[in-house]
Amino acid sequence: MSTHDFREERMQKLRLNAPASVVADYFRLFVNRRAYTLQSNRPHPESARHYYYRPKDKITGQGLSLTPDTIRRHLEGEITIGLYAINPATQCSKWVAIDADYEDSLADLLKLRFYLRQDGVDSALENSHRGGHLWIFLAEPLPARDCRIYVCGLALRLGIPVKGGRQREGIEVFPKHNELKPDRYGNAIRGPLGIHRGAAQRFWFDDAAEGLEQQMCYLNSLPKMTSDQLARLIAGKAIPPQLLSPEPKAEAVIWKPMGGSEFRILDHINTKLRTVGHNNVTRCPSCAEEGHDRSGDNLSISIEDPRKYICWAGCTRDMIRAAVGCPRPVQHALYGQKKEALNVEIQCQSDGLTRGEIPRGGSEGDGLRG
Ligand SMILES: [Zn+2]
Repeated sequence: MSTHDFREERMQKLRLNAPASVVADYFRLFVNRRAYTLQSNRPHPESARHYYYRPKDKITGQGLSLTPDTIRRHLEGEITIGLYAINPATQCSKWVAIDADYEDSLADLLKLRFYLRQDGVDSALENSHRGGHLWIFLAEPLPARDCRIYVCGLALRLGIPVKGGRQREGIEVFPKHNELKPDRYGNAIRGPLGIHRGAAQRFWFDDAAEGLEQQMCYLNSLPKMTSDQLARLIAGKAIPPQLLSPEPKAEAVIWKPMGGSEFRILDHINTKLRTVGHNNVTRCPSCAEEGHDRSGDNLSISIEDPRKYICWAGCTRDMIRAAVGCPRPVQHALYGQKKEALNVEIQCQSDGLTRGEIPRGGSEGDGLRG
């Protein structure tokens, strides 16, 4: 039996039934927006990681919207979804999740949990593949920026490293952005209480019995942080300066009017290129703006015709060109359109590229955290 079959069989045994009340509670507690990501069933052939990608309707190419049925399938173990942290319409989130997966990270999470409690803030510790996720639930959606001012500020006061800026190892605080630009998604985190497909395992919250109803009952009973409470905790505070994102390197690229000459993506990229088949492959600059595509293989550029390029996570030509500081003239830009809606069209529109011309070798989209 192959490793894949073995994993499948193991995951079959982890299947559960999700009662409608648990699904409804989960939706209310965790879902900030309808866009979501899906963890791939099969590992990437090179990295062996189970990447997350945004699922699309096979016929229309539209990004799928999360429904209670999506949640049910996630809880039951048929699929595993990632949840976005920010509702772009309000710049608010229903929760803060602190992800820690470095050595001894659990000690840092427990320390953080203790000091949160000193501030009157309850949190739930979800076990994970490595380390864990600490969740703070909010009584109502609150601004991502305010949540980050509080949680990142507390962590830094406690000497706990926070990933971001120049800090490469440390906790990650979701929402990872203070606000989202239009048409952006930010970062998604694996939805709790499902199956981690890489580990072929369910991870539960501490302090409650294993089982969907017991776990949800615990999460429901947990006191939620209120708007007043957060306002008091961040009074007079701002985002810690070390967490402000470094200036995007695209700024270094000078926009040269090309007087009719063609745009060559290679002239605007300074990330490492790898050759895969007939293409050069590198990190997509638009994905990189959101901290995605860490494996650096979302952008394929045709070797034969370097005018042709495509991002496999669905970034449009306009998004990629804006990210390298070389936007197309405004009258042609499609910037207002949604990334997910354009993903199928891009196959024929992206500077003349089609999926047939640039085979990707079975990998699926953008890498998000587990
Ligand atoms: Zn991209």
